[in-house]
Amino acid sequence: MQIVRRSDLMVTLSLAVFLGVAAAIILNRTLGMPWLGLVVGGLGFLYGMRRPFGRWRATRQRLPSEALHWLGEHVPFYRALGRRPQARFERDVQIALAELRFEGVADAKATDELKLAVAAGAALLLHGRPDWDLPRGHTVLFYPGAFDEGYDVDTAGRFEGMMNLQGPILFSAPAVEYGWRHEDGLNVVLHELAHLLDFQGSGVDGLPALLAPSSADAWRRLVQEEIQKVKTGHSILRPYAATNSAELFAVAVELFFEQPDRLRDGHPKLFDALVALFNLDPRSEG
Ligand SMILES: [Zn+2]
Repeated sequence: MQIVRRSDLMVTLSLAVFLGVAAAIILNRTLGMPWLGLVVGGLGFLYGMRRPFGRWRATRQRLPSEALHWLGEHVPFYRALGRRPQARFERDVQIALAELRFEGVADAKATDELKLAVAAGAALLLHGRPDWDLPRGHTVLFYPGAFDEGYDVDTAGRFEGMMNLQGPILFSAPAVEYGWRHEDGLNVVLHELAHLLDFQGSGVDGLPALLAPSSADAWRRLVQEEIQKVKTGHSILRPYAATNSAELFAVAVELFFEQPDRLRDGHPKLFDALVALFNLDPRSEG
């Protein structure tokens, strides 16, 4: 994530200039006040820069020491980073905290720790790709436990996380906590955020939108091979990964960040593809 991308800045600037010039022409003819075009262009520029401004504001101060402590304790990747990449990781956490909306459902509360746990997942997935971004407008809902298809809190509910195309991202709060406390390849935050990257593309197809088009066919073939391995019991990925290519991708992402050595040993092609996609190797510092 970046505070402001050069390409966004250029587009905003060009649109503001266009708007200003058009306004100046019209205002000169109607009111004889072409200088008002400057005001219109300036306002247009400020409007276009509201996201970078929000990011700048969110990152002006460092994260509180409790948050830094939590990251150091729960995110081995962050812990292994050098000082500068660590600061960038922290900044990404702040941006995610500022741009996602968080709410508790029933008696679950959106605590600072739960918010941090989700923001840390976003920072981790995007760390190697500073040019990538979170899609806008998602709300994160924390449930007190597993929930069912109707999004109701249910002791028999089987969902601990769910991602909706246009809607909220749902998490069972205990599952979020579990994900960062155990490095066993189960991390519901990484799983659902992996879907979020997937959803940004043409659909939920396990083909991340941000994948270079030239790699798409090779990626599809690889995912199908890996699904077969899961189905025939020749995979370290859990059986749920065979549901479809989107789940294969999300489950593989969990393992990639939580047990990279194991994934590298068991599925070197899949591991290398994820290293290329995320532009980092979780075995070393990013
Ligand atoms: Zn899934």
